[in-house]
Amino acid sequence: MVPRRDTPWPGEALFCSDCGERLERARRYGRERGVCPRCGRVDFRSPSVAVAVVLSDGEGRILMVKRGPGSSRPGLWSFPAGYMDYGEEVREAGMREVLEETGLVVELGRRPVFAAANFHDPVKLSVCIWFAGVVLGGEQAPGSDAVDLGWFALDDLPELAFETDAALIEQMRGEDPDGRGIIDIDAAPGSPRR
Ligand SMILES: [Zn+2]
Repeated sequence: MVPRRDTPWPGEALFCSDCGERLERARRYGRERGVCPRCGRVDFRSPSVAVAVVLSDGEGRILMVKRGPGSSRPGLWSFPAGYMDYGEEVREAGMREVLEETGLVVELGRRPVFAAANFHDPVKLSVCIWFAGVVLGGEQAPGSDAVDLGWFALDDLPELAFETDAALIEQMRGEDPDGRGIIDIDAAPGSPRR
């Protein structure tokens, strides 16, 4: 094994989480990884999982949030989204994030409408899963790390924070030229739109 050097992804662990020994670099499972010279533990580093929600007002406009000072890409806009909490079910996480950021109570479709790996922050890679949702109630107001909200037509969007949101919107524009229908892809049972 060789001493640990710079890696393509900054912020990797320097010490073994089992025994505390300084990790070294060695080839394991197809590429160089951190390996513990004392106990042999291989340091796998998992991306975080995030959930984003696509809400439509039925007139072709989608709900976007303006990201606040504490979030990544502040001042730019994204779908309501956030990281899953440990032990949380994936749709619960999406519903919780929407409530926190927009004040709206929503229900999510059973199947995701999009999924992608995010590489915008090399220190904290993530995988995001997008669901379509329907608004059941609540009072619309920005909260948590969102500082503003808006319903936007697909051809008149504010400056987007993330390439992956932009990729989904491209898809929505192509498959759904008048901006209608995304909400009906797989609306959850009991939603008012079914
Ligand atoms: Zn170890």
